[in-house]
Amino acid sequence: MQYVPAVPGPRRVCIVGAGPVGSLAAIYFAQRGWWVDLYEARPDMRRPATTTTATANPAQSQRSINLALSVRGLSALHQTGLGLDAEIMDLAIPMRGRMIHDLAGQQTSQVYSVFGYCINSVDRAGLNIKLLDSVEAFGNVRIHFNHALQTCDLDRREATFMNKSTGEHLTVQADLIVGADGSYSTCRRQLMRRTRMDYTQEYITHGYRELTIPPLENEDGSTDFRMNRNHLHIWPRHTFMMIALPNLDQSFTCTLFMPYEKFEEITTEAELVAFFETFFPDALPLMGRDRLCVDFFTNPRGSLMSVKCHPYHYEDKMVIIGDAAHSMVPFYGQGMNCGFEDVEVLFSILDQHDVVAKTTGDGDCDRDGDLAQALAEYTEVRHRDAVAICDLAMVNYIEMRSLVTSRRYLLRKTIEGY
Ligand code: FAD
Repeated sequence: MQYVPAVPGPRRVCIVGAGPVGSLAAIYFAQRGWWVDLYEARPDMRRPATTTTATANPAQSQRSINLALSVRGLSALHQTGLGLDAEIMDLAIPMRGRMIHDLAGQQTSQVYSVFGYCINSVDRAGLNIKLLDSVEAFGNVRIHFNHALQTCDLDRREATFMNKSTGEHLTVQADLIVGADGSYSTCRRQLMRRTRMDYTQEYITHGYRELTIPPLENEDGSTDFRMNRNHLHIWPRHTFMMIALPNLDQSFTCTLFMPYEKFEEITTEAELVAFFETFFPDALPLMGRDRLCVDFFTNPRGSLMSVKCHPYHYEDKMVIIGDAAHSMVPFYGQGMNCGFEDVEVLFSILDQHDVVAKTTGDGDCDRDGDLAQALAEYTEVRHRDAVAICDLAMVNYIEMRSLVTSRRYLLRKTIEGY
């Protein structure tokens, strides 16, 4: 077992999880002069997978291929001053409204805003890679891939990782441990052991599976989108729905959300095609039967859950952010955006408290600002908003799969729009 104690000099932060939220947090800490160690259980996503390293946590690897980046997330990227928001927008496709597909294949556009506001479809891996590249450009950051957090001794400010390549254990001491390790957070479990944490976890009865609409191949060899690229497409079917977001390669990634038992009822290709002919008749020819059958029967089925907890911190020793603190169902398209906002809010509070990056190395920091008080304030400020957005996300499923088709809803939206 290797042991790395804290040393005098810059404050040391140990961030667990190099997903989008942990990577953005690493940039914010590095910019303020902290010594940053970023630990990630999975291999470096920028390197080709090998048979020994391609053993990501299956729950994590099932995440959507693309996602909607909103003004909330863009603001946190912008605050870095590195132009990350502009760079990521270069890889994004604006979605200016919803396109509702009815049972007859008719399409109706519902724009999000008369002022032109939109959400943006981005490739999840591309976004994460951009953030990792930015993190690595700092001299005061080290990224440790293939390192899975096993346990923490929060009072000693220690975190123990297993190096998944060698099987060795490594214990590191840090002035602050930041948990950005996603919905099934190990950090959250460690926090529960030291705080009187209120905690709820709720699985919904619906799951999801990703399908594809490939690009249109023209006779002259050029390619095109098969549907309007500047919309989030929705096939609302009341008790279930399908959505589609555009990709830069001119394909669409579709996500079918349905009750688990409905997925289980479809066991043969003939049943699947009949189901699509009935409920998604316009999408079927765009996907192609063969592609649909391969995707449906081979892609993993994901589950959807909502996590709320309080507090998010322990003294001046640990704080959890992103899905580790508030995992939400994806129907509001705000999970990652909200995690990015966590980072922006956390640092606005740390900066107000003048928490600076200095330590005496004896496990006790020079308290130029009161980190414990700042983290307590963070919990209180952030918890209210995180709970609100988890609830809104849950309610928005009913809006997306059903209410968007009602006449009263459309009338209200029309009145609101003008
Ligand atoms: P994660 O992305 O889960 O990253 C956590 C990281 O921690 C991972 O890299 C993981 O490998 C690592 N890790 C886990 N355990 C350990 C450990 N013990 N030790 C070390 N590392 C560890 N959000 C949006 O904003 N817009 C959308 O449109 C949207 N669409 C979605 C669609 C679907 C189907 C789903 C499921 C989610 C969607 N979300 C969306 C939510 C979004 O995916 C999450 O909110 C976001 O990924 C959270 O980022 P994170 O960095 O907190 O966690």
